[in-house]
Amino acid sequence: MSDEIWDFIVVGAGSAGCALAARLTESGRFRVLLVEAGEDDRWIWLRIPTGVAKIIVGERAIWRFYTEPEPGLGGRRLFWPRGRVLGGTATINGMFWVWGYPAVYDSWREAGLEGWGYSDVVPLLKRMERYRQGDPRLRGREGPLVITRHSPRDPLTDAFLRACAEAGIPETEDYNASGCEGAGLMQFSTRRGLRWGVREGYLRPAMRRGNLKVLTAAYATRILFEGVRARAVELRRGDTTIIARARREIVVCAGSVKSPQLLELSGIGDAGLLGRCGIPVVAHRPAVGENLRDHLQARMMFEVRGLETLNDILRSPWKKARMALRFALLRDGMMSTAGATAHAYARTDASSPQPDIKLQLHHLSSPDERNPNRLVLDDFPGFSIGIVQQQPASRGSVHIRSPDPFEAPALRPAYFSDPEDLRVTLRGIRLARHVARQPALARCIVREVRPGPQVESDEALEEYVRSTIFGSYHQVGTCRMGTDADSVVDPRLRVRGVEGLRIADASVLPTIPASNTNAAAILVGEKAAEFMLNDARSSS
Ligand SMILES: Cc1cc2nc3c(=O)[nH]c(=O)nc-3n(C[C@H](O)[C@H](O)[C@H](O)COP(=O)(O)OP(=O)(O)OC[C@H]3O[C@@H](n4cnc5c(N)ncnc54)[C@H](O)[C@@H]3O)c2cc1C
Repeated sequence: MSDEIWDFIVVGAGSAGCALAARLTESGRFRVLLVEAGEDDRWIWLRIPTGVAKIIVGERAIWRFYTEPEPGLGGRRLFWPRGRVLGGTATINGMFWVWGYPAVYDSWREAGLEGWGYSDVVPLLKRMERYRQGDPRLRGREGPLVITRHSPRDPLTDAFLRACAEAGIPETEDYNASGCEGAGLMQFSTRRGLRWGVREGYLRPAMRRGNLKVLTAAYATRILFEGVRARAVELRRGDTTIIARARREIVVCAGSVKSPQLLELSGIGDAGLLGRCGIPVVAHRPAVGENLRDHLQARMMFEVRGLETLNDILRSPWKKARMALRFALLRDGMMSTAGATAHAYARTDASSPQPDIKLQLHHLSSPDERNPNRLVLDDFPGFSIGIVQQQPASRGSVHIRSPDPFEAPALRPAYFSDPEDLRVTLRGIRLARHVARQPALARCIVREVRPGPQVESDEALEEYVRSTIFGSYHQVGTCRMGTDADSVVDPRLRVRGVEGLRIADASVLPTIPASNTNAAAILVGEKAAEFMLNDARSSS
């Protein structure tokens, strides 16, 4: 290995890294090394969609990060799982397939990020997907990622969507084609009921090519430079240290937590911080690790009558067996979902250029939602509405604490440091309550369990939110792309201040473009491939 020189080295086989490595190897011209800290784990729960609940309370296939105590959340530390497996977070996520908001992509282009406007990215989004239920003029039909829509339309989902319409959020047949406006059945990256993420769609076919080598259980500890030119990656695999060399370029695709960490460990970051950690400075780039943005999710929970939810199904061996049998025979139903089936995009502020809130229907309720160690459900039939503010203005950071590559970085998301984020969230809760009071849903609801109808005032709702809200796991922005000199990467994803190094993953997204970030991360991988192949063509 040490003697081999690769054309390109891609660090991190996640959403973006798999798409990038697959595209780079398509022509057969380039030899590519893809390194991944996790394994090619074939655990069945990584394929069966309901397995998400099991994955995130376990140790297998994930990094288990915790934030620092968050001042805006009463000092609570939030749990952030991330994928540590081939396919990265796309192998452990909820599989919701969301392109994003035209207005956000357009805001990037208006800020000078040429090629990142909505009309620029739609052809790539279409190229990524194979959604046979969609209008072929608007949706992709031949891409590597198979997309399906939740089915069958169960009574709770139906009641939620009708209640949304009664509350003034009309149903849309295809929210991706409609620019994420309205309410609708969720679309998933699944094929015949099983997860179909970047590992299945992009990487497996590419692994048959002789010019792609995938090295699993290999942890990148540093990028090595000659002057300011990135030349090699130092890897730890078991007890062995490996130096992998690149002829053309190295691309870091380690995600929003680990990409800034790897940059700082390699000497790219704030010179003061690097100095305190005893790391020689290659490039003083204070923006590395800054600009962290993330979604939070508040939950309202309701007890229902006359409807079956996961609370009942998972408690009853017979109902569980029935759900499993249906899944085995038809590959649909609740087991083909991560527990959520429909969502609604809405504006709580009419002047917002895009919906500022998403309401998401979950077929379960819990007295200890997001317990990082076990799934706890209420002992009555219940459902929840997740309330997610879409464009948080609060910005935090991710930075190393020491030169030890195995020590988790300090995560300081600074949730609610911009007070507007809390205000929008409170308006979102009131909107969810309004939806729940519409006849279609009200007739099935016994009571609002959490926060409870008595929690009405701004102060009481604020207290509820700060003490119960949890992460939605959509971290972006820690290696921000921009045209300004302070940004970490330029619009072609090249790291400023050095040569031969790009970053391609969710960390480059300057703001959160979508209610869920997987499609946007894959898009970054696709864009990086275009840039690199074009550059390689013009240099040869
Ligand atoms: C529980 C959960 C549910 C989610 N649900 C959804 C959803 O339903 N829909 C949606 O759109 N989004 C969802 N997301 C978010 C979405 O999946 C992520 O935004 C997206 O996958 C990020 O892609 P990425 O390429 O930036 O990073 P990742 O996919 O995380 O890839 C990074 C990869 O790099 C590897 N790596 C890291 N450091 C190193 C190193 N030093 N050396 C070698 N390898 C390294 C990691 O192991 C990982 O495989 C969810 C996220 C979580 C955590």
